[in-house]
Amino acid sequence: MIHKMFITDVMEKLWSPISEQYKIEYDKAMEFELSSLNNSVLDEIKKIPEKFYFFASPQLSATMLANIGCSHQKKGHQFAGCSMCDYYSTNIKGLAQINALKDRDLDLYKKAVMFSFENSRGNNVVGSQIETVTTYNFLDEDSFPEDLYGDIFGKGKLYSRRPIYFKFETRPAMVTKEKLLKLKKHIGNRVIVSMGIETGNEQLRNHWFNKGTTNQQITDAVKIIKDVGWRVTGNLLIGMPGLTEHHIITTFQESVNWLLSLGVDEIVCSPIVLKPCTLQNFFNKQLSDNVLLTNYGLVQGKHTGMPHIFTVLRALYPFLTAAPEISSKVAPSAFHFPIYESMVKNEYADDAEAFTTIMHAYEQYRNGDKNALLLLEKYADETNWSDSYQCLLAKQQKITEISESLYLTASEIGKILWSDSWEKRVDHFQKEITV
Ligand code: SF4
Repeated sequence: MIHKMFITDVMEKLWSPISEQYKIEYDKAMEFELSSLNNSVLDEIKKIPEKFYFFASPQLSATMLANIGCSHQKKGHQFAGCSMCDYYSTNIKGLAQINALKDRDLDLYKKAVMFSFENSRGNNVVGSQIETVTTYNFLDEDSFPEDLYGDIFGKGKLYSRRPIYFKFETRPAMVTKEKLLKLKKHIGNRVIVSMGIETGNEQLRNHWFNKGTTNQQITDAVKIIKDVGWRVTGNLLIGMPGLTEHHIITTFQESVNWLLSLGVDEIVCSPIVLKPCTLQNFFNKQLSDNVLLTNYGLVQGKHTGMPHIFTVLRALYPFLTAAPEISSKVAPSAFHFPIYESMVKNEYADDAEAFTTIMHAYEQYRNGDKNALLLLEKYADETNWSDSYQCLLAKQQKITEISESLYLTASEIGKILWSDSWEKRVDHFQKEITV
């Protein structure tokens, strides 16, 4: 009998070597002298400050605080979170040790969290206009105990000059009025709450992204945040593998319109990029030459796993060139676009000039030149990649519903992961996506 969602099973399987390694490291860390464990955690934080400190500029800073990890990604020793997310697999030992430290001595854990901020940013920090402080799920008190609110955000504590806006990330289900009011006492009135919505299509969000978040939870969270007087950012993704270009574009555009209708203040859009233990990486490594999926245009050799540059352009273009009341709210991610650019660069090397022009236009747009994208639409017909893109679209025309392409790709995933039991698992998945 299968009870779990197909995608949760897939993610458990993809993460299973990491889950095992985590358990070994955690058990070892529980045997350390407490002071050695604490020193090891602090050394890890000192060694790699850039891991806890993404970037800083006068306009925008992002600081990652050391933490025990996302409770949606890791339950006990088992990893199986959102299918496109991997913040942890490359540092399992560090994650296991900080979890062991928290389980053994909460005060030392809280000191390590504070230390990660000071180690990255120093003391008496002059805040950027927007200061993002993140633990990925900031309202999860298990990861970020409430009494740290005052230590980080309290007046005269870490910041000599407070930013115009503080920004933090959380999952919609964590948002309650009580929590926000408690936090507001320390953080103040000018706050942006950022939430990973990924897509407005609830079925896709939960049965393919494994997000575990309903549209109702998102609607409620937006309302609570706005009622408290804060601003809301919704993060959307472009290009989950397993979808046709048409479905990537239409679901993205419907998602933007839905978030705008909820009153979200800003929508930050990110192309999917490859990360080790993710579904997109599995596509890239295991399915890129799959004959069936190639015939349907659902994988594209070396391009597999990240969205085609034209698809990203076509998804975003209508919003970025729309009237100011819309274009001012839809932004290409300043963090993910440069990563996408560096990861796909080689794939578009045969027309490097067009690639550079497109990416440069995004950068200019993000830096405030709202006309920078106006000339780009013509590139969809004029580059070396135009013919192959049209060919891809033609192959995908055999698919009309999202559920069809998901079923096809789930079958191919299932055959690789469970050669002797894939059929019943995929039947189960088909029921999930047709209810
Ligand atoms: S995307 Fe966010 S909620 Fe999902 S596993 Fe990653 S950190 Fe957790």
